[in-house]
Amino acid sequence: MRRPIIAGNWKMNKTIGESIELSTALKRVLFDEGSVDIVLCPPFTALSEVAETILDSNLALGAQNCFWEEKGAYTGEISPLMLKDLGCKYTIVGHSERRQYFGETNQLVNKKIKTLLKIGINPIMCIGENLEERESGKTFDIINNHIEGGLLDISSDELLKITIAYEPVWAIGTGRNATPEQAGEVHRFIRKKIEKLYNGESATLLRIQYGGSVTPENISDLIKDPDIDGALVGGASLKSDSFVKIVKAASNK
Ligand code: PEP
Repeated sequence: MRRPIIAGNWKMNKTIGESIELSTALKRVLFDEGSVDIVLCPPFTALSEVAETILDSNLALGAQNCFWEEKGAYTGEISPLMLKDLGCKYTIVGHSERRQYFGETNQLVNKKIKTLLKIGINPIMCIGENLEERESGKTFDIINNHIEGGLLDISSDELLKITIAYEPVWAIGTGRNATPEQAGEVHRFIRKKIEKLYNGESATLLRIQYGGSVTPENISDLIKDPDIDGALVGGASLKSDSFVKIVKAASNK
């Protein structure tokens, strides 16, 4: 009932030429993959070329971040309006690297989500605990806090445009993925939280993807969990063969 979604977060990798090469290879192999939403999030500098490469295909374009205003005197920032203009259908917000290195707070995440929704771009909202928080038993407090802050004043209709990415910080780029049991437990907690904040239907329809060292080797076990609707993939999205394997595994859900 929930269509799986696999998104590749290329982070600060790939020149324009490399981005065209990767997106061309992915389009060639994934052209008939009809049962999964596939999102490519290249760096800002390659969005235009990747948009052109994947035009009229089943691959969607996403950005890795945005500013919270549509336009104005904000030197160096990129607005949701500009992303829409480039053909972006999705934008990642609140990635732990942005929370950690750039001071992105729940309040900023919430402002970005509101502007993205106004412009008509689907936000992918990242939430998740760090290692210290997990080890001191604070995982669910952090999840509560990220959800309540990030989704403040978001209606139930708007919620369905959002994908939540549960990304335990200790699993990102470390090669240490959460086990399907660990991820599944938090995904169920998120769904329950959404049911409390909104209603049962919203909780049933909301897509929740897992992120953190997802590979072709571990995706099949993760995606089997009924509450895991896909993956946000960093490192393994940088090579076409590994990303393709992850998409194919999700298509069997
Ligand atoms: C990410 O960038 O969101 C991510 C999950 O990275 P990785 O897959 O490399 O852990």
